[in-house]
Amino acid sequence: MMRLRHRRFDLQLTHEWAISSDLGSGGKRLYPVVFVELQDSQGRSGIGEGSPSNQYQESHETVRQFLDKIDPHQLSFDNIPASMAYLDTIAPGRYPAKCAVNLALLDGAAKAAGQPVSGFLGLPFQHQCQVSSFTIGLDTPEMIERKTREADGYTILKMKVGSPADRENLSALRRAAPDKPIRVDANAAWRTKEEALCQIEWMAADGRIEFVEQPMPPSSSEDDLVWLKEHSPLPLIADESYQSAADAAHCARCYHGVNVKLVKTGGISAAKAALEAARAIGLKTMIGCMIESSVLISAGAHLASLSDYLDLDGNVLICNDPYTGVRNEGGRLSWVEVAAQTGLRVSPRT
Ligand SMILES: [Mg+2]
Repeated sequence: MMRLRHRRFDLQLTHEWAISSDLGSGGKRLYPVVFVELQDSQGRSGIGEGSPSNQYQESHETVRQFLDKIDPHQLSFDNIPASMAYLDTIAPGRYPAKCAVNLALLDGAAKAAGQPVSGFLGLPFQHQCQVSSFTIGLDTPEMIERKTREADGYTILKMKVGSPADRENLSALRRAAPDKPIRVDANAAWRTKEEALCQIEWMAADGRIEFVEQPMPPSSSEDDLVWLKEHSPLPLIADESYQSAADAAHCARCYHGVNVKLVKTGGISAAKAALEAARAIGLKTMIGCMIESSVLISAGAHLASLSDYLDLDGNVLICNDPYTGVRNEGGRLSWVEVAAQTGLRVSPRT
């Protein structure tokens, strides 16, 4: 007998949050997520989280509606692939909800096996992971300068671009952090390959920009994306263009690397497959996130050995995280002194 419970929780952002698709509609202060708890009659239990993004037409309501359709008796800690296949029979897509259930299944199964999720999946354990970037969302140049100063302890920054004020914004960031490496995310903002190349060439002149994420919409023609990859002076990383392992061949033609997010693929199991497929075809890999609590961020960190870059900062952009898990010190993720040893290694914040 399996029991499934879920609850909405409103993550509170330290600063108003905006990316290029939010231009004109203002930023967000609250970001609702859904926590899922699974418990079986043997006393095994696990927790998961789904962080729905309006970029993918998802909300806490779409997550709740999907979760309410689940017959928990079809879920088992002993057979996660069959449990996920059952979820796919309920509806296609709905990845944030499936992600929440997948995390809870893996948390419970790994805890019952006395292992962290990484070990349960056969991945090497790393006390310390790569350095994650810290994201500066779209804002006024004054606020970008202030946020960059507040992020002084972080060694790598990620800057959201795709607004008419990109040049003023980069100058503002550079006033506060003249030498830091920066990763740039356009969230599909540039409409033509010429516009994208012009912006990328301008950014390359900065000299310390590592790569550009999703310069153009995923619906752009493959010819345009291939042209942009050939001409770009900076590596290009697919995010909105890389939903799952099935997109690996397309992305290998059009990009240098891919950004894998657990809520985009539908959980740890599918994210692991997406990372492995990307590596097998020669793509660089990055693990990214939405605005998320320490449950999802810790889940992503268990896959760190499959990535070249980490962008797992969703939990340090909020001020009411109800859980603790993997630690973030100046961007370096670490499991040192994390009390929970098994499962996702998260605990409710006391
Ligand atoms: Mg992105």
